[in-house]
Amino acid sequence: MARTALVTGGTRGIGAAIAVALRDAGYKVAANYAGNDEAASRFAEETGIPVYRWSVADYDACAAGIAKVEAELGPVDVLVNNAGITRDAMFHKMTPEEWRAVIDTNLTGVFNMTHPVWPGMRERRFGRIIIISSINGQKGQMGQANYSAAKAGDIGFTKALAQEGARAGITVNAVCPGYIATDMVMAVPEAVREKIVAQIPVGRLGEAAEIARCVVFLASEEAGFITGSTLSANGGQYMA
Ligand code: NDP
Repeated sequence: MARTALVTGGTRGIGAAIAVALRDAGYKVAANYAGNDEAASRFAEETGIPVYRWSVADYDACAAGIAKVEAELGPVDVLVNNAGITRDAMFHKMTPEEWRAVIDTNLTGVFNMTHPVWPGMRERRFGRIIIISSINGQKGQMGQANYSAAKAGDIGFTKALAQEGARAGITVNAVCPGYIATDMVMAVPEAVREKIVAQIPVGRLGEAAEIARCVVFLASEEAGFITGSTLSANGGQYMA
């Protein structure tokens, strides 16, 4: 029987590529999103993947959203915590709101989504939790104290939870993309993007599909011996 996979922020960018790749690998897939109904409807129409709107920053909304997905598609066996935002500012200009928004979505959102699916995975003795962290959580990035803190926190969460899930057949892994050509990166001014590309040994931005392939691998039965790991996919920009 096909397993069910839930991808947060699964209607655009990297998440959309992950949702499609999991569908193509035979999973029943649900894609969550925050508020861009237009992009979500377009995605659902093009892919046939059902979309569900709630914010990962809201614990109760996550629990209710997951219950709806499970009622419609079956228990979530694979959770991809992909939803993320940036609110970049140099630290001396960063507001408490910018700090909180990024931590609430990129770090607390991972707790909010993982906590409700964890008991079921433990009972069924199978689960795959995959967290999309970032190269900037590994190396830090100026102008992103909030984002780097959240993404580094995701890696700590991955390593701790991997130890708790291991005997229950649940693996927990992080993928750390470098710069990928999505809305998030294309929103950066072109001159800055050119400087970024100059720092990437392979000489280009990554593609969302390249991150999706990492996720499909980590979600598979065959990846059961890999847990607590951090898979870097960054064109050689940072060799952690
Ligand atoms: P995009 O901005 O292209 O897409 C973000 C997705 O996340 C959208 O579907 C958005 O929904 C959703 N989302 C945002 N906030 C919430 C929320 N509170 N609750 C639920 N869904 C939410 O992002 P990318 O594809 O570029 O990034 C995906 C992940 O990869 C992020 O975690 C990001 O930090 C990480 N990453 C990205 C890199 C890159 O180069 N692009 C590099 C390294 C890591 P909606 O459409 O409704 O707004």
